[in-house]
Amino acid sequence: MAYFTRTVSDEVRQKAELSRKEAEEFIERELKCPVCGYIVGVAYSDSKGHLKIKCQKCKTISVINFAYFYRRKYKQRYKKSIKGF
Ligand SMILES: [Zn+2]
Repeated sequence: MAYFTRTVSDEVRQKAELSRKEAEEFIERELKCPVCGYIVGVAYSDSKGHLKIKCQKCKTISVINFAYFYRRKYKQRYKKSIKGF
């Protein structure tokens, strides 16, 4: 029995490798399912906008807006920098 294997072009592989290298300098934070708290992925400090996720534990599909899930430390640092001006 032959298995179907999907091939990806060299250009796509190069883009993926470049993305991985760029992400090395960013801070990682875990994305948790809003229903059960299971870790569904990792976001980098430059992540913006919305992301649709499916929890592998409870199977819930959720939409996350990164603006609502920033770390508290980031907000405090941001406020301090505004007061400084
Ligand atoms: Zn879940």
